[in-house]
Amino acid sequence: MLKTLFLNPPSFEGFDGGAGSRYQARREIRSFWYPTWLAQPAALVPDSKLVDAPPADLTVDDVAPMARDYELAVLHTSTPSFAADVKVAEILKDNNPKLKLGFVGSHVAVQPEISLKRSPAIDFVARNEFDFTIKEVAEGRPMAEIDGLSYRQNGNIVHNRERAILENMDELPFVTEVYKRDLKMEDYIIGEALYPYISFYTGRGCRSKCTFCLWPQTVGGHRYRTRSPQHVIDEVKLGLKYFPGVKEFFLEDDTLTDAIPHVETIARGLGELGVTWSCNAKVNVPFETLKVLKENGLRNFTVGYETGSQQILNNVKKGMKVSRARQFTEDCHKLGITIHGTFIVGLPGETKETIAETIAFAKEMNPHTLQVSLPAVYPGTFLYNQAMDNGWLRDHDEELVAQNGLQVTSIEYPHLSHQDIFEAVETFYRQFYLRPRKIAEIMLDMVRDRRVMARRLREGMEFFRFLGARADRA
Ligand code: SF4
Repeated sequence: MLKTLFLNPPSFEGFDGGAGSRYQARREIRSFWYPTWLAQPAALVPDSKLVDAPPADLTVDDVAPMARDYELAVLHTSTPSFAADVKVAEILKDNNPKLKLGFVGSHVAVQPEISLKRSPAIDFVARNEFDFTIKEVAEGRPMAEIDGLSYRQNGNIVHNRERAILENMDELPFVTEVYKRDLKMEDYIIGEALYPYISFYTGRGCRSKCTFCLWPQTVGGHRYRTRSPQHVIDEVKLGLKYFPGVKEFFLEDDTLTDAIPHVETIARGLGELGVTWSCNAKVNVPFETLKVLKENGLRNFTVGYETGSQQILNNVKKGMKVSRARQFTEDCHKLGITIHGTFIVGLPGETKETIAETIAFAKEMNPHTLQVSLPAVYPGTFLYNQAMDNGWLRDHDEELVAQNGLQVTSIEYPHLSHQDIFEAVETFYRQFYLRPRKIAEIMLDMVRDRRVMARRLREGMEFFRFLGARADRA
């Protein structure tokens, strides 16, 4: 085995997105997901090391000397961080010219040729589902024999055949072993989970075909493949053993609730362990299932409402009805399941009127917390092609984050400027959070629990700093 470094490279201050996050920007509040995608091949390569630079506040100067201790480096990249990640790759190569260096992540999976041409420091790209591709590279197999690999050979770029999609998800070893070996649980914090938390996947892929959503259209696919419930429960038990202070498990599947028997079986297992957990959900979960989940420790759902406009939901092929979202939300409120609602401003069909409609809808749904994003027009998505075909991308650039790491959008429409879309995010946050009802709810949370108070005060300060930074950018 080659001595292997898995690196989520340093980029913007507070940038959360090179690895585990779906939302590739600095968040309104300090927020870091686990680098689960990178931890997975790290779990397959014995004696490797995973370095997650952003949450550990490591700089390029900190990681550069590490190159001398390894034979192979695997960097997780993303569209917004790609240019910075290439610079890190070049610095690593300067420190150790013999280092074999590869990139993984959806950005390079959909553009392997362009990515490899960007810098001679990148020796290979492991496309799409890259776990076993990287394992075989680390075993020192000849590049020509490794499925799913694009690499340099005699001045040319060679693309090997696709790797077969992984069917038996139980073949994937526990990422929790890598978390324990290389990460500090206290470095990871997200607004929607209790602190400290642990997250991992019980399956990959999403059946839905939302046009803006990156992962199912690139690395994960549209078939939901799941680990066996016992495999999941065994990993939760391991998490409890390694991290006795953990307050919540976040099961990070794109849409865990899409496989009802799977999620109910897992829930019952979690219930027996007495753990608190949360997950992503679509709004089509039947009441009876919600009840089973709640009775077995479910605390919070992260729900992609996206918009309150039925026309926009149709435009982006969300496969969801606003009326169903209302019913689902009412059911969750009735059962005491809290919701972190996620919304996107500026999807195709957006107008000033639909923005107002969505803000009103969000207030009516009144999720416990919410997140408002701009459309991230990633290469590899239907939305990207649609935007290119219709001339919606400003200067045809791919800017997704500003120099300060905050989200920006390159999309705009003849009737709605990119500035209108940018400003709508702040309006949305202000109108949702600065309501007497919401302020009272937050205060009540704080009074009930002193730890919540400390956290909410810090988040509140960060939130207002975030609004200030956006004002500077505008
Ligand atoms: S349901 Fe969620 S994860 Fe699935 S494609 Fe739509 S946005 Fe993506």
